[in-house]
Amino acid sequence: MNAVTADMVRDLIVGQDRARPRSRQRAIGPSDLSSPCNRKLMYQLLDVEPVRADSVNLAAWVGTQMHSGMEAALKGDDEWQTEVNVGVEVAKGIRLFGHLDAYHKPSFTIIDWKSVGPSALQKYRRETPINYETQIDLYGLLAVLSGKFRVDNVGIGYLPRNGDLSDIHVYTRPWNQDRADAAIKRLVDLHAASAAGPAVLPMIGTAPDCRFCKWHMHGHLGDPAQACGGHDGRDPRQAQEALL
Ligand code: SF4
Repeated sequence: MNAVTADMVRDLIVGQDRARPRSRQRAIGPSDLSSPCNRKLMYQLLDVEPVRADSVNLAAWVGTQMHSGMEAALKGDDEWQTEVNVGVEVAKGIRLFGHLDAYHKPSFTIIDWKSVGPSALQKYRRETPINYETQIDLYGLLAVLSGKFRVDNVGIGYLPRNGDLSDIHVYTRPWNQDRADAAIKRLVDLHAASAAGPAVLPMIGTAPDCRFCKWHMHGHLGDPAQACGGHDGRDPRQAQEALL
């Protein structure tokens, strides 16, 4: 009998990740739109084949398991509604798709669960990054436009990957529709630019806050329509690891 190997375990995780709906879905959603990188969004809009399609962001994979745990924890609780898929037209011919993690009915609050490492948690206790602020306002917009929810507040439930229950941190605030509208305007502008096709990619800027990206190819200096070498040639995983 073959011994159990790390490759076997890796293959199991990659296979499971590939099969889940979120991995297959290329539609643009709030988390995509909260990325500061216009080029990454343009790759999505142009449906450019990712160069790292098979790679799994393990931290995100662990986060997905935490989402499943929270869904199970809230199941049957009348105060909560969980895991709602929403797709709405946010501008002419442009649909935004999102997955609402949890809705707290008594306070009309949309909550997004995020699994975080220790240093990120410390940072987020002090301040919520602007891309997360944008993301939760977009979830609020999606929920309202779906016609199924009243949204007064939005927030994030930070679940520590390697901490205690006492380390869980919840951030909530009133929904900011203006910020969501500004994010939609950015999408509309990029959508219009995408009409030029992949030739537009070299003109689309990257962002210093460069995170895990399926179009990243280390050291790539060639055609941006094929892959991106990272902002200033930096590996996006380094920026991400700094936050874990
Ligand atoms: S590798 Fe970084 S800079 Fe390039 S498209 Fe992806 S996120 Fe943007």
